[in-house]
Amino acid sequence: MLTQSNRQDMFASCFIVLTASVTYIGYDLPRAAFVAIALTSLWLFYRIANRRLLSVFPKQGDLPHDHVAKRLWRVFVEVVLQYRVVRDRPLVGILHAFVIWGFFAFAWYSANHMLLGLRGLNHATNERTWYGAFVAIWAVAVLVGMIGLSIRRFILRPKALGKLSPTSGAVAFLISALMVTYLLGWGVFPAPGTAWKVNWWVHTVVFFTLLVVIPISKHLHLVLAPVTIFFRSENTSVMRPLREEGEDLGLIHLKDLGRKDVLDVDACVECGRCTDFCPANLAGGTLSPKHIILDLRRGLLSGGDLAAGTAEEKNAEKVFVTEDDLFQCYSCGACEYVCPVGIEHVGRKILDLRRGLASEGRITNERVNQLFTTMERAPHNPWGVSHDTRQKLIESRQFPVFDGTQEWLFWLGCGLNYDPHGQAVAQAMRQILDAAGVSWGVLARETCCGEPARRAGNEYLFLELSGKLVESFQGARVKNIVSCDPHCTTMLDKDYRQIAAFSQLGIKVLHHTEFIREILPKLPLKPSEMKATYHDPCYLARWRGITDAPREILQAAGAHITEASHHGRNTQCCGAGGAQLFIADDSREQGKQRANQRRFAQLIQTGATTIAVACPYCPIMLRDAAGALKRDAVEILDVAEIVARNLTSKER
Ligand code: SF4
Ligand code: SF4
Repeated sequence: MLTQSNRQDMFASCFIVLTASVTYIGYDLPRAAFVAIALTSLWLFYRIANRRLLSVFPKQGDLPHDHVAKRLWRVFVEVVLQYRVVRDRPLVGILHAFVIWGFFAFAWYSANHMLLGLRGLNHATNERTWYGAFVAIWAVAVLVGMIGLSIRRFILRPKALGKLSPTSGAVAFLISALMVTYLLGWGVFPAPGTAWKVNWWVHTVVFFTLLVVIPISKHLHLVLAPVTIFFRSENTSVMRPLREEGEDLGLIHLKDLGRKDVLDVDACVECGRCTDFCPANLAGGTLSPKHIILDLRRGLLSGGDLAAGTAEEKNAEKVFVTEDDLFQCYSCGACEYVCPVGIEHVGRKILDLRRGLASEGRITNERVNQLFTTMERAPHNPWGVSHDTRQKLIESRQFPVFDGTQEWLFWLGCGLNYDPHGQAVAQAMRQILDAAGVSWGVLARETCCGEPARRAGNEYLFLELSGKLVESFQGARVKNIVSCDPHCTTMLDKDYRQIAAFSQLGIKVLHHTEFIREILPKLPLKPSEMKATYHDPCYLARWRGITDAPREILQAAGAHITEASHHGRNTQCCGAGGAQLFIADDSREQGKQRANQRRFAQLIQTGATTIAVACPYCPIMLRDAAGALKRDAVEILDVAEIVARNLTSKER
């Protein structure tokens, strides 16, 4: 809404601009008035946008601009073609697309309209052109879009949209008025008659009023969305590296928000898609990624200081986001996947806010603190299980120890080292590696890569664990790593690349599905038919963008895959990520279906007798759901186990 200083600006600007225009144009009052209205509107747009965005825009910090062609293509697909908007909500998306495509169709008409205002309305002719008719068709389409969207927003009122907003009503009215006045000017009133001129002025005033309403409202996304989409990450956003110099301890103060983050919070269109798709919210949690973004915006605009804290601190308006909400997140990336304006909630905000709280020792969540205590103590893994468990696996299965001469390091990770089912996956992978004649080995001693610690916010612990591990990689002259755990793969291939000593080693890191696809031609496979569905792990499909490789492998092993309602990058989380396997508080899910049960139900709806997975955490969650839903007969197997089962030669 217009503040008092906005209003003062408006009157002062009107006066100055009107005086300047009369002086410049002479006493041709209509032209002078047009220039005055246009310049005032542009000036107000700038002043409001400046207060809302530019004045809080960080003075330093990078915006990612690698792969420019790819980024521009993404802007074309998502802004011009409206791909994402239509993909996730087809009907609403098409209505929205009508409006946006209509704006594009109007671009040349609007430029000519402004030109006519400068030249004088008597230059108008009644000439009918193809372009005029084309724009008229789009004006009708925009009206259809606006009516449909208004019915949804003001009558149907889905929960995701939240409270009614007066500016939404104003924008809907102004856009509709623009279309109606265009149609009247094009098809009803002859130019340049009086009725036509009056209509022309109404259209002009509405246009310039809309220009002022845009920066006041969430409709600033019309300007910012192409920018945020251009700068967003290809996959789920990773946690930023901490700056080595200074006091950077994560996202503690609102002034710590980066340039992309400030653009993000201002670009939010409040559509609620992120919250609608958030598995933590669906499971009955209070976490709403939409409100995290809006609360950060509120904090930023109100000159707030601390970003996150306890619920009591939020109630006292000392902070804007609660710790409780932050620690419900699975870091699954669904919010980023569906956000139509390229907002990055996960690595850049939720996880960084956790890191800020942990760095300051302000976490009150006992489960999180217990996880840190467990991992800080030897043997430094999130389960606190003795190294002996791993040692027994390696000795009993005679895993070769990596000595620098082998081509590949088989990284087991905590899931394969300590979980009994994970150990079965390790053995299956071993059979595959041997069957393909790959030279490989495992580290003699392996500690946790620090994934749960970093995702839960403990950067110190992560740096300690990763530091030791990088030394092991250096000492062992590791060049290639394959891992069955997409969490470890993401850690090593993305987070570890932020560590200079690791980055310099130039180590190639692959998830086992990518690796097995590469070596498929070398594998002696005898496919056996099976009816399967595949559960895409969030950290493979959305953090790494890998969805084809596991399916190709399964098909090569004879699987007939029936896809679940959510699959590929649109997968739904099993509920283990973001360290939730170790810190989740299941009591909040009372009365709602738990995330793992919801996902399991989607998977068994396919009628498949086998659920294929590609992460050691997913089967833990899905087996738990199978037990709760009394569907233990459903087989849950890793892709590696299915391949190993179909090898014609295997060493046990
Ligand atoms: S990452 Fe997943 S769990 Fe976390 S806020 Fe986004 S959708 Fe919700
Ligand atoms: S963050 Fe994105 S998906 Fe969520 S409400 Fe805002 S615009 Fe919509």
